[in-house]
This record gives sequence, structure tokens and C-alpha cells, in this order.
Amino acid sequence: MCSQTISNQYLYGLDSSQLIEVDAFKFEYDTANAFSALVSSAKQDGIAIAVCSSYRSFEAQAAIWNNKATGKRKVLNKASAPIDISTLSAAELVRSILTWSALPGTSRHHWGTDIDVFDPRFIAKKDIQLIPQEYQTGGPCEALSLWLDKNANQYGFYRPYQQGKSGVSPEPWHISYAPKSLQYMALFDKQELRRIITEQQIELFNEVDLQLEDIVTEYFYRVASADHISSRS
Ligand SMILES: [Zn+2]
Repeated sequence: MCSQTISNQYLYGLDSSQLIEVDAFKFEYDTANAFSALVSSAKQDGIAIAVCSSYRSFEAQAAIWNNKATGKRKVLNKASAPIDISTLSAAELVRSILTWSALPGTSRHHWGTDIDVFDPRFIAKKDIQLIPQEYQTGGPCEALSLWLDKNANQYGFYRPYQQGKSGVSPEPWHISYAPKSLQYMALFDKQELRRIITEQQIELFNEVDLQLEDIVTEYFYRVASADHISSRS
């Protein structure tokens, strides 16, 4: 896929027609190939990698956002404990949701380049919560996480959400195919995002609109560097 053919709709999760489907998950084409190589290599080292989610549409992200905004889905603090949202101002609620969930239109999962992974040998998909403890010492995805530390970069993948390096809390399960995701990040346009979220009527829109500059800077652009990968691709 060359950059000239990337539609605005695609960048914001509104068009998945260019993605390919593998085992019921949608991926950007080059990402799918690189991911397949990553999975094979892990397998040779005795590590299983399964997909928890890959592409997610604007609509699916908006459902998560709206459910958190209206109390239908738990909002967690940085320590993964539930927050009583009735005590929060709209501004605080927006920030709290952003700790773990992207504003619709800004999710890297819209691109098909970013994948949440887990180790199916030690935990079932239905049981996984995607919290850091599961990927740390003694957790069911510890071995997978250590393997990714050593090997993901060789296949073009890196972790955008890391302690102290990203606005979003550390997500050791979230890997991104840098050769493509860096390209899409560079094409992202704040004004286009504003236009789309205005049109799509998400919850907390007024507050989001007031904070949009900051939200995009802190939760979209501030991610760990992938320079060590892009220089080789
Ligand atoms: Zn993710």
C-alpha cells in the first residue's frame, strides 16, 4: 500500500476495505506478513502468540468510549482499579478514559498495524483482562513478553505504550508494525479528526473538543520512539 492510496476514512477507522483478514482478524497487508513471521519465529522458540485484537473500527472504539463515558463499562485508574466516575468532572472523566482507551479516530488499532497479543497456552482469551500484571513476573504472558523484548524489533514491531514514554499507560501486550504505523502517524491530521468526531457525535464531545489539542499531543503523538526500527526498514 503506498501512501498516495491511503484514504482519510482509513486513517480514522472508517474504512477497512484495504485490510486483509487472517483467522477472523483484519490487518494491514505488510503487517500481516511481518506478524506471521513473528509468530513462526516465536513458535520455534517454544512461545505461542495469539491475537486478542487487531484492527478496530471507529464504531467499535466509539462503543468502548461511549460505554465508559456513560458508566456502562468500567473506567480503570493507572493501577487498573475501577474509578467511581460519579465523582469526576467531565474534564477528569475524559482524562480517566484516555488512560486506557483511545479517543475514537485516534486509536492505532484503526490502522490494522497494531495488535494486542497474549499467550494462549497459559490464559484463555475470555479470561484475559489486558492488565500489566498479566505480562509481568509470574503472569501468564510473562514468557511471551520477555520473548517480545528480545525479538519483536527484528520483525519491525515495537511497543508504543511504555512507562514514562507515552501518554497512554504501559501496554506490554500492544505491538505495532513500525514501517507502516509511523507512516500513518505522519499522515494523521488533527483538523480532519475534529471534523469526524463532530460528525459522529461521540459522548463528552464538548469536553473533548475543548481539550483536543492536548489530547492529540499527549495520547496520540506521545509514544515510545521506533527510530531503532525505522532506520533499518
Ligand atoms: Zn492495543
